[in-house]
Amino acid sequence: MNYKIIRSKRKTLALQVNSDATLTVKIPYGVSMEYARRFIEEKRGWIEKKQAQFSEQKAKHKPKQYVNAEEFLFAGKPYALEIVPGSTARIALTPEGKLRITEKCLDAPKHYIEWFYKQFAKRHITARTKEIAEVFGYQYASVKINSAKTRWGSCSMRGNLNFSWRLVIMPPEMIDYVIVHELVHLEIKDHSKRFYARMSELMPDHRTREKWLKVNSGMTLL
Ligand SMILES: [Zn+2]
Repeated sequence: MNYKIIRSKRKTLALQVNSDATLTVKIPYGVSMEYARRFIEEKRGWIEKKQAQFSEQKAKHKPKQYVNAEEFLFAGKPYALEIVPGSTARIALTPEGKLRITEKCLDAPKHYIEWFYKQFAKRHITARTKEIAEVFGYQYASVKINSAKTRWGSCSMRGNLNFSWRLVIMPPEMIDYVIVHELVHLEIKDHSKRFYARMSELMPDHRTREKWLKVNSGMTLL
């Protein structure tokens, strides 16, 4: 394990995992390197967990480069970007698990890929909502896809369900969770005990899924 050592006047040893996933060890003057090494070894599990968290966060917030082999998630599954020749904008998911775009799309890659995500979301979420609503006996007016950045989904007084296309980046069980959440709002508008009781009935592990969504994105539900 690589780390940077700082000898310090402090009384106790301190480990610090930095946001670039490097480790800094502050060692009091009176403490031997041998002792410090053993201490680091003992804390290895914690250090590696912290480092993994920082690396993951960094990867998530890195802007897309739109280069070959870069990963894009659809229903939680990674698709490697594949740029092929072509003067017309075309974009598709291939059976080999690629997100294939023509060179023309590189004129405005974000625009084309977001458009594609919206189409994917429209198909996937509309179909899934219909299936789940049938199973649980809910009736809704319509399903609409928007580009919300802070809200996964919402349900209007008239029974229109709205979902952000960004939801289809998440794994299928998270997409299902948001759909069930909004369907239950057709019946119970608030987040009362009654609401959560119904959620538990329809999706016993809904709390785990909600927590996962919160940790893995800053978006909320209504
Ligand atoms: Zn809600």
